[in-house]
Amino acid sequence: MAGKLQSPRGFHDLTGSDLRRFRRVSSVCRELFTRYGFEEIILPVVEYAELFERSIGEATDIVQKEMFVFTDRKGRRLALRPEGTAGAVRAFIQNNLYALRPYHKLFYEGPMFRYERPQAGRYRQFHQAGVEIFGVADPLADAELLKLVSDILETLGIPAVMELNSLGCRNCRGGYRDALLSYLEGVADHLCEVCFDRKNRNPLRVLDCKVESCRRAVASAPKMIDFLCEECREHYRRVKEYLKELGVGFRENLNLVRGLDYYTRTVFEAVSDELGTALIAGGRYDYLVEEFGGPPTPALGFAVGIERLMLLVEDPGREEELYLLIPFGDVWSYALKVASLLRYRGKKVEVSYRRGGLRKQLEFANRIKADFAVIVGEEEVKEGVVTLKDLRSGEQRRLRPEEIP
Ligand code: AMP
Repeated sequence: MAGKLQSPRGFHDLTGSDLRRFRRVSSVCRELFTRYGFEEIILPVVEYAELFERSIGEATDIVQKEMFVFTDRKGRRLALRPEGTAGAVRAFIQNNLYALRPYHKLFYEGPMFRYERPQAGRYRQFHQAGVEIFGVADPLADAELLKLVSDILETLGIPAVMELNSLGCRNCRGGYRDALLSYLEGVADHLCEVCFDRKNRNPLRVLDCKVESCRRAVASAPKMIDFLCEECREHYRRVKEYLKELGVGFRENLNLVRGLDYYTRTVFEAVSDELGTALIAGGRYDYLVEEFGGPPTPALGFAVGIERLMLLVEDPGREEELYLLIPFGDVWSYALKVASLLRYRGKKVEVSYRRGGLRKQLEFANRIKADFAVIVGEEEVKEGVVTLKDLRSGEQRRLRPEEIP
């Protein structure tokens, strides 16, 4: 590439204010995950491509066109992970975690990769923080997860609506799929090209197509909710009941299907009206562990889109005060000792490497938004003091280094 090197399209740097907002979102998630009893797991960024193909589903957008797949030197097909759940399931089985305790609660955080068209809040490398519960069928777990989602949003001060639906199970999904498919055949002329194509492979996905003609065409499509078997209906009813008891607001969206094949029963999205997109999304996947060779293990989880939440939080600013130590003349060893003393006391200290007069130095202090200037000249060294200038009030005084408040 000629000229300046650029990062690849959709891959971004995080610095300054963006990074502070990133850290704010991430630390609120991690703190709440921990408070809810989840243990961290660090998962690899690269897995065998097959893991995602088999879990997310061959007929999904992610697998069909969004995965970064490559072959290694031995010709094995690897993929940069597009999401966290498949890897967590693989790890759960591979490490025999199910043998250790009756159920597990794990959280992860890290970069995910999807070859999507970049736009505001959508990248090819983005970050998710997510949780997974393995081994709990009780609808109380679904409700507790939604409460956690609501706590995250509330702590960050982000308004969002929780959308909820049930996708049924092995017993009832098939009947619904058939009914939906025959309905879609009837309205096929009104479907967009993509939906026309995918209705046979993945008819549920047609329900959440954003194209206006598709939305109209599916408005009176049969709903999963009317096909739920007795157990699924009871599960869904109890989730809603617990949510009401916990005071978690939600709105039923009977067309919510999510883009991934592995979901069963409860699915949900926290949607921002301001952005018009999902911020946090998840649901149950009761068969996935079993499909990958583990013991039958009902499971559920969600993922927070960190960049999406970042768009809606304010820059918290720098937390700690910054001291700029300004040496004048040959006072280096004294100045560095003062800097060390302050650092041992937990202060954030930068020693100025600028040269020049006091005015220039103070301009620099202003530019880097220092809160205090600690000025050390030959006179200060002789007297064993420093001149401390509070750059916000302009107040200035001389004092011994250990007296700096
Ligand atoms: P998903 O894994 O598709 O359920 O997505 C979960 C959340 O991750 C979404 O609700 C978004 O907030 C976020 N997300 C998904 N894809 C991207 C992307 N390409 N860029 C940024 N955030 C994303």
